[in-house]
Amino acid sequence: MITIEQALDLVLANLPARRAERVPFERALGCVLAEDVAAPHDFPPFDRSAMDGYALRAEDVRAAPVRLELVGEIRAGGGPPGRILPGQAKAIMTGAPMPEGADAVVTLEQARPSPDRRQVLIAQAVRRGENVRPKGSDALRGATVLEAGRYVGPAEIAVMAVFGRAEAAVWRRPRVAVLCTGDELVEAEQEPAAGQIRNSNAFALRAQLRCLGIEGDYLGIARDDKGEIRTLLQEGLQRDVAIVTGGVSVGEYDLVEDALRDMGLEIVFNKVAVRPGKPTVFARGGDRLVFALPGNPVSSFVTFELLVRPALGRMCGLRAPELPRVRGALARDVRQAPGRTSFLPARASRQGAGWRIEPLGWRGSGDIIGFARGNAALIFPRELDFLPAGGEVEAVLFPAQRERGRA
Ligand code: AMP
Ligand code: MG
Repeated sequence: MITIEQALDLVLANLPARRAERVPFERALGCVLAEDVAAPHDFPPFDRSAMDGYALRAEDVRAAPVRLELVGEIRAGGGPPGRILPGQAKAIMTGAPMPEGADAVVTLEQARPSPDRRQVLIAQAVRRGENVRPKGSDALRGATVLEAGRYVGPAEIAVMAVFGRAEAAVWRRPRVAVLCTGDELVEAEQEPAAGQIRNSNAFALRAQLRCLGIEGDYLGIARDDKGEIRTLLQEGLQRDVAIVTGGVSVGEYDLVEDALRDMGLEIVFNKVAVRPGKPTVFARGGDRLVFALPGNPVSSFVTFELLVRPALGRMCGLRAPELPRVRGALARDVRQAPGRTSFLPARASRQGAGWRIEPLGWRGSGDIIGFARGNAALIFPRELDFLPAGGEVEAVLFPAQRERGRA
């Protein structure tokens, strides 16, 4: 059986080429830039004041306190700033252009205008250039202000707006279908009858996708019937990636792998030495990928994070989409049968400069409620059968739950 590391390598080796697309620049939020963004003009576009104060010549106030002739005011957006002569000053607002002849700004706090506003008393000397932001000092025309590969957050949107960018080239997010299999499943809004349960995996997966900025298309539930599974999978394969849950174990009604083979897909692997998640299937048909995850909710959740997230994240252009891992002290002894790398429910919390990893007890891969009490999974190496309390262990932190470790 292949290890989880080998499985991930196989997944990443089978990713289709990324495709860039142009989107209105605000829609680039949460995407990764596929091109450099260069400044089409200097910024600031003119020498401007960084403070409310008085524009003057530094040379004139070297012997401060000194009185200068006050010859007007310059407002931000208020038209041409004019000029000053030696011995003169102009009141100036933050963001207003510097008048010709001035080379510094003295702040309001360091200056007192006369009641008739014909003069201003400057209390302190200033350096040339003080409180002035020269044209092009933040970015010169032609300079790269955002590099390809940069994740676009709100600050990057601001930079594009500064330069009037209408569009941005970003890596296209994959379109992803989510479908579930199981005769026992009903939709979340339905009342389960005897022997039935609600489909929770579809919602977990859609939430996990949303953490990557992807809106998954939920296609519904296929009964444990090869024809129904094929029909839904066909629809799923209209997208770049289809995620299926359930029907991948060795039971008589576990028909997903057969359906994938019948449809002519290549099964890249169908078992991984991981707990939970052993019967995970990864298949490929051309540029289309299928992840068939075990139906148990914890298995589906964990295998998504270990295998699907790294794949989709890279398709989105992220360099390191893997969940963060931390090392810390194990809170108590843990035993585990060797042979598979285990990801056990745990609570990771900060302890001094490091972390404390507290295992929560393992009630099986069906216990999503217990699993949700944690914020992490303790990584139990496959070659070991015992981890002692106090020893250093590794844990993977789950998305959006990272903060809960501190509570
Ligand atoms: P399976 O992988 O189909 O053998 O399912 C394993 C276990 O997970 C069974 O107890 C199923 O009832 C449960 N299960 C399967 N699919 C889902 C789902 N979509 N939501 C919640 N539980 C599920
Ligand atoms: Mg099933």
